[in-house]
Amino acid sequence: MRILYFDIAAFIILVIIMISLIFRKMLSGRANRFYAVLLTHMIITTIVDFWAESYGVWIPATESNMPLRLVMCYIYFFLRNLTTPLYHLFICTVTDTWHILKKNKWLQAVLIIPYAIICVTLLTNPFHHMTFYFDENLVYHRGLLIYVLYAASFFYLVCGVAYLIRYKKMVTNDKFVALMLMYPLNVLAVLIQLFLLQYLVEMFMTSLTMLLVVLVIQRPEEIINPLLGVRSYIAYTTDMKKAFSIQKPVRIVFVKITNYRALLSILEYDTCMLLMKKIGAELVQSHKEEHLPMDLYYLENGLFALVTEKELPEKIKAVAQRLSTAVTVEKQVGQLQIELDPCICILRCPQDIDDYEQLLTFGTSFHTYLSTGGVVNDLGEATDRCMFRLRSEIDSIISNAISDRRFQMYYQPIYSVKEKRFLSAEALIRLQDEKYGFISPELFITAAEKNGTILQIGDFVLDEVCAFLSRCERDGLPIDYIELNLSMNQCMQADLKEKVLYYMNKYHLRPDQINLEITETAANTAQDIVEANIQDLAKEGIYFSLDDYGTGYSNISRIMSLPFHIVKLDKSLADKVDDSRMKILLKNTIRMLKEIGMEIVVEGVETKETLQQFTELGCDYIQGYYFSKALPEQEFVEFIRESQGICSS
Ligand code: C2E
Ligand code: MG
Ligand code: MG
Repeated sequence: MRILYFDIAAFIILVIIMISLIFRKMLSGRANRFYAVLLTHMIITTIVDFWAESYGVWIPATESNMPLRLVMCYIYFFLRNLTTPLYHLFICTVTDTWHILKKNKWLQAVLIIPYAIICVTLLTNPFHHMTFYFDENLVYHRGLLIYVLYAASFFYLVCGVAYLIRYKKMVTNDKFVALMLMYPLNVLAVLIQLFLLQYLVEMFMTSLTMLLVVLVIQRPEEIINPLLGVRSYIAYTTDMKKAFSIQKPVRIVFVKITNYRALLSILEYDTCMLLMKKIGAELVQSHKEEHLPMDLYYLENGLFALVTEKELPEKIKAVAQRLSTAVTVEKQVGQLQIELDPCICILRCPQDIDDYEQLLTFGTSFHTYLSTGGVVNDLGEATDRCMFRLRSEIDSIISNAISDRRFQMYYQPIYSVKEKRFLSAEALIRLQDEKYGFISPELFITAAEKNGTILQIGDFVLDEVCAFLSRCERDGLPIDYIELNLSMNQCMQADLKEKVLYYMNKYHLRPDQINLEITETAANTAQDIVEANIQDLAKEGIYFSLDDYGTGYSNISRIMSLPFHIVKLDKSLADKVDDSRMKILLKNTIRMLKEIGMEIVVEGVETKETLQQFTELGCDYIQGYYFSKALPEQEFVEFIRESQGICSS
């Protein structure tokens, strides 16, 4: 008597897994979809198996229901033998090697041919009855050809195990073991059923392996962002790592909500997440409208990525345009009308980026240098590509420039209103690259601060400027001091004082010939070492300027506690001097700063009118294009001599 309870248990397990998949919204993404297909297949197979085996147990085995019983047997054999090839396809989706299978005709043949042989064996069975048959007492018997079915299944097993070992690196160890277990457990089940005919454990064992797979592989907390219901950052990193390791081409459309932080500061976190969820749904809608299958990931902080393997540039661009329109439309959040500022970018891997780490860095930084406002930046296009290439090569450009000493120091004259002459200058670094031409210091200084080479650049600047000052002294150039920019990283070095003194001594300079500029942000850094450095250098007689005043968040009490002599008003303030309210603010700021003994430089003065206004406001020094841009050493020397009425020879 057959024991059917195993099939009932298998059915219950499989249905529970299916319900949990639906409730946990685990049906998006290829591996998830394929898992659901496999599960459906197994549920149907279990039902059919149960039905076919019920004859003689719960359903009477009679001549009249023989045709239906036979049909059930055939369906069972067709379905059951399809499980291993389907499982192989599932492995392809989990290991993300689907595209390899798609391209490799041999692999496809290996998967199709054994099943085709099984089909032929089964379809011809009514004629030869050598696979299985029912005797005159309606008892089921196996024929010799049943071993063809076993052989085919064994072949799939060997292929599956070999394939998994070949692509082991594409999955973590626990996933590898879970995927692999399907095979020995199934062999065990087949052996049990072969020798102990009454135990129908095959489907039960299969359902257990499916349970194992859902527990270890299809972990929703790993791959689905619970708040947005789309694929998570972890899923993105895992998928991209796999894509790079097997050189699978992917196209990514990034959508970064650049004003995400501002949104977070005005909305509750949950409301902000609801807004992100709404955007996610619109992004899905957009690619569906273009009939382009894409996987959507939420990479946190207002960043989405849509990924496809399809190499259809026009379609991808059309999707990106749709995304832009969908995201830039004003959003209603409660009583608020929210406007989003997205930065959209199309990227092709491996053409644009062929390295996983670089891809991660790109995702967090592209919006800082590509156009925002919903513009679609396509790295396949020349201008966007050039900027991107420069960004991605900047680290090596900097290290080459350091080793070749290819940086140059330029000097921008600073005019003294009181003395009516140029008595100082700001040293500004320049980098001319063979391939990219002039590279803005804003770009390479930021990169150097990130990669740490700013310290070497800082040494170069100190060396060059001190050497220049000693030449000025030797040649009698009437320059009292040079302003020199210090980066935050330099301010945080314990040996800053020793370094500055080393270069000053090397060129026999006095402390009053150097003035160090520190930005508001650096000065505000609550680091004891920064304060100690400034105080120590001040004790040596070196003056400090507070750079870019008015651009950061001024912590007045902290700034006042540091020994600054000069405050440099930022260009953005100079630009607004015509505004009457701004003028009042400037007037009072300047008065206040002067009352506490500061001298004031205004930066970025470009016109005679601005010069006039700031002179009237009582600024001590003027710096800007009105007088001169930053000049290379020789031109600067000539400029100073000419301005003094001394012609250079
Ligand atoms: P910063 O220290 O505020 O330098 C002033 C910037 O304003 C310079 O840009 C200068 O060329 C520009 N500028 C001056 N007058 C005018 C004007 O009238 N109109 C306009 N539109 N711009 C004007 P630059 O040289 O591009 O430098 C940008 C920033 O790069 C500097 O800002 C500074 O933060 C950094 N930097 C430059 N050289 C060095 C350096 O040697 N070391 C460090 N650590 N940073 C540097
Ligand atoms: Mg400066
Ligand atoms: Mg400045």
